[in-house]
Amino acid sequence: MIDILTGLKRFQSDVYPSHRELFAHLAENQQPRALFITCSDSRVVPNLILQAEPGDLFLIRNAGNIVPPLGSADGGGTVASIEYAVEALGITDVILCGHTNCGAMKGILHPEKVASMPNVAAWVQHAAPARREVERLFPDVDEHERMERMVEQNVIQQVKNLLTHPFIRSRVEGARMEIYGWVYDIRSGLVRGMDDSGKEFSEIHFESHGSPDEKRMLRELEKDEEFWERI
Ligand SMILES: [Zn+2]
Repeated sequence: MIDILTGLKRFQSDVYPSHRELFAHLAENQQPRALFITCSDSRVVPNLILQAEPGDLFLIRNAGNIVPPLGSADGGGTVASIEYAVEALGITDVILCGHTNCGAMKGILHPEKVASMPNVAAWVQHAAPARREVERLFPDVDEHERMERMVEQNVIQQVKNLLTHPFIRSRVEGARMEIYGWVYDIRSGLVRGMDDSGKEFSEIHFESHGSPDEKRMLRELEKDEEFWERI
């Protein structure tokens, strides 16, 4: 705990003063660039990965970056936070980001590992359709690849779950919202993005051959950067 408090002290004495204007602006306003839904895993640090400032990302985190589908008894906090991000803050870009070596995904592949944790065991059941897809599509892969595919299929499944919620689906169908499925590789720092088919993942490049979605997002990020430079 002493390390944690040392960090707080350093923030207050060194970091805060150098961002005083930004924090003053944020004290009364927030206009996040994106809703970022990811795992609670300590190794996934969205503001570091995206080099985002305070106020940039509206974050929702839980074990396994899960979005309970419409009608789930346990949708509560996660779905309420998504609803607030969309309805109250007007966020139109949603990034759902899984990661390599995810403990929650191990839990759904190996239920015995979470048998003593009934809440975890029940929660990861939201990834059960993804596990069935892994078994169907990749029946003969080794354990390492099975985990990799599981993480990807879970992102696909949770994007589908997002679309079960009418306030999300209506915006996506009306081209007023974009959803991006990502997988962050802890070892390499690379990110793979779900393609337009919603079935395949490939590394996100930011050169001219980026997908139209990536190019559009980059343009928006550049616009946002101009905004942040002005304030
Ligand atoms: Zn995880």
